[in-house]
Amino acid sequence: KHTGNGSINVYDQTVKQQKYLDDLTLEIELMKAIQSEELTVYYQPKIHSQTGHVNVEALVRWFSQSLGTIPPSVFIPIAEKSPLIEKVTERVVTKVCEDITRFPDIFEKTITSINLSSTMFDEKIVQNSIVSIIKKYGLTPDRFELEITEYTLMKDVERGKETIDFLRGLGFRVVIDDFGVSYSSLNYLKLFSLDGIKIDQSFVQQIDNEEESKEIEIVTFILMLAQKLGLHVTAEGVETESQLTILTDLGCDELQGYYLSKPMAIDALYHASEQASDL
Ligand code: C2E
Ligand code: CA
Ligand code: CA
Ligand code: CA
Repeated sequence: KHTGNGSINVYDQTVKQQKYLDDLTLEIELMKAIQSEELTVYYQPKIHSQTGHVNVEALVRWFSQSLGTIPPSVFIPIAEKSPLIEKVTERVVTKVCEDITRFPDIFEKTITSINLSSTMFDEKIVQNSIVSIIKKYGLTPDRFELEITEYTLMKDVERGKETIDFLRGLGFRVVIDDFGVSYSSLNYLKLFSLDGIKIDQSFVQQIDNEEESKEIEIVTFILMLAQKLGLHVTAEGVETESQLTILTDLGCDELQGYYLSKPMAIDALYHASEQASDL
């Protein structure tokens, strides 16, 4: 609080400096981590509600020797403020390509989703950090889906459009992540050509809340709209059986969440798929 003697400035500055130092430490550690195995990828299945077909989403994981486990919600925003996000993405794409090459059976009919920060929306950048790596491994874009968050997409609509069209032209599927949270969600559908949307987990987790069921109306509306526009819909953050049932009944194409499976390391994914094929 303002004390009238200027101490607010001192306090503010200390807090800012602390934050700055923390971010800087993280940035430096992250830079080192990118070169090492500390940065890896977990896979979370996405299951088709009608066919049971399984696709996966690649989620970056950072197990730091010096700092412990750092969640992506902490380090991705920091990486996004610099070209470091490109390095992180390159590492993720490389690890995914390695895993696909090492375990061709798991990934044979599987589309792997990669989270693409919209701060990387530029043809040259995506060419270097994604397209050229995939090519190097002899893989084709149709094996991949790119999930982009709405967050900075609106800042430069032209560039957003160009990059999405470029990527889709190469054969990548492109979907909007966390759909519905932003004020301009409907504008995305108008402005950009997309393959699909992922309904944000905040809607999904409220859908079976008996008292406040506005979410069910909203999700019903999103699904109707998506169907009319020919968009594929994934619901993320499915945590209960009733959420699963409601979303399946509403015609949601694909379901993802802890109720179905948590994100897991490649070895665990391998064992899970072995078990599934033994059934
Ligand atoms: P996201 O892309 O929206 O991913 C969904 C997040 O929800 C993941 O958290 C996932 O582990 C978590 N989740 C999945 N199912 C459930 C559920 O049933 N309940 C709940 N409560 N959570 C669930 P995670 O892995 O911590 O990632 C957080 C965010 O960090 C991601 O949100 C994404 O925006 C970003 N991120 C993760 N990996 C990457 C990456 O490789 N590149 C970029 N640019 N961003 C990434
Ligand atoms: Ca995602
Ligand atoms: Ca999401
Ligand atoms: Ca999210």
